[in-house]
Amino acid sequence: MQSIFSQLDTFGHKKVVYCSDPETNLKAIIAIHDTTLGPAFGSTRMWSYKTEADALEDVLRLSKGMTYKCAIAGLNMGGGYSVIIGDSRRDKTEALLRKFGRFIKNLNGEFITSEDVGTNPRDMEYIRMETEHVTGIPESLGGSGDPSPVAAKGVFMGIKACVKEQFGSDTLTGRSVIVQGVGHVGEHLVRLLREENVKVYVSDIQEDRIGQIAKKYGAQAVSNNSIFDIDADIYAPCALGGTVNTQTINKLKCSIIAGSANNQLLNEAEHGTMLLDKGILFAPDYVINAGGIINCYSELKGFSKKRTIQLTENIYDVTRNILKLSKLENISTTEAANKIAEKRIADIKKVKSSY
Ligand code: NAD
Repeated sequence: MQSIFSQLDTFGHKKVVYCSDPETNLKAIIAIHDTTLGPAFGSTRMWSYKTEADALEDVLRLSKGMTYKCAIAGLNMGGGYSVIIGDSRRDKTEALLRKFGRFIKNLNGEFITSEDVGTNPRDMEYIRMETEHVTGIPESLGGSGDPSPVAAKGVFMGIKACVKEQFGSDTLTGRSVIVQGVGHVGEHLVRLLREENVKVYVSDIQEDRIGQIAKKYGAQAVSNNSIFDIDADIYAPCALGGTVNTQTINKLKCSIIAGSANNQLLNEAEHGTMLLDKGILFAPDYVINAGGIINCYSELKGFSKKRTIQLTENIYDVTRNILKLSKLENISTTEAANKIAEKRIADIKKVKSSY
């Protein structure tokens, strides 16, 4: 097995903090990947990892992803992430979360967190009791509240940018979209699309949810296992990752893939190239689902809702630039996005070289 230091070298991390407190049963890892652009920003995931090595790998991968996500969204934040090892339904307590908050406090602002899988705004309130370096607290407490409407707005702008590239105009009227997963983000996306008279197909693993959303917004309900047979313009994955793979790419009739789910490509390099070769436009997920993090960033900076939406609308231009670079250099859209993010970090490093 690779040593911890060589894993840090592989991912390019600057710091990893192991947090242990037997009294509250806290076992957590905070990973700080890059702070060139600003303090490391990243969520806290609580998950019952099989091994400590799995937890470390997850936190290293997620925190590196945050560096790229913040950079391309134009935020002055670096990349970090944290994981608490445990079952969120069984092991989560006020004391554990507040102790974790103290570990964040001791980093003196180098790491700022928010909620993720296994944590929620209530948990952020507990962390907030010990440190100010936390976002995503409820609106009633002066926070930015539910990020999903903003995340959906960003996805919507990403879809528009792809439609402009593929069809010459960013008007969505008359286009058709399959939304897979109509949870928090999916529902808001359906609403935005229907407001522009888009034909929307909705699917989910929860049958009752499909019916409800279809009725509420005038969308067409489809069963989850038939979505790749539908002849639509756009596929918007808004459930889980890995749904874009060799099998689905070969079935897909859409010419655009743009949704909120994280890590949509099962294999980034292989499937990114496959989509490029087939002429299917893929809007990199970490770019167009950045509305959620923009919402948290606005909370930190004290921005108005209007400013949050403006920053989120900028996802249109960011996506257009990625698609242009991908075409120009004949590289996958993910490679193009990574290049633009890395260039911004390198450029800002130069700015910061003098006091
Ligand atoms: P959610 O849990 O509210 O909704 C997910 C929906 O997908 C649920 O209705 C669920 O039943 C459905 N689903 C699960 N597995 C499915 C499957 N195999 N096929 C079809 N439907 C399935 O989650 P969310 O907050 O709406 O987030 C959706 C995705 O977007 C996630 O991948 C999340 O990481 C990502 N994301 C969310 C935000 C945010 O602000 N909520 C921000 C950025 C990215």
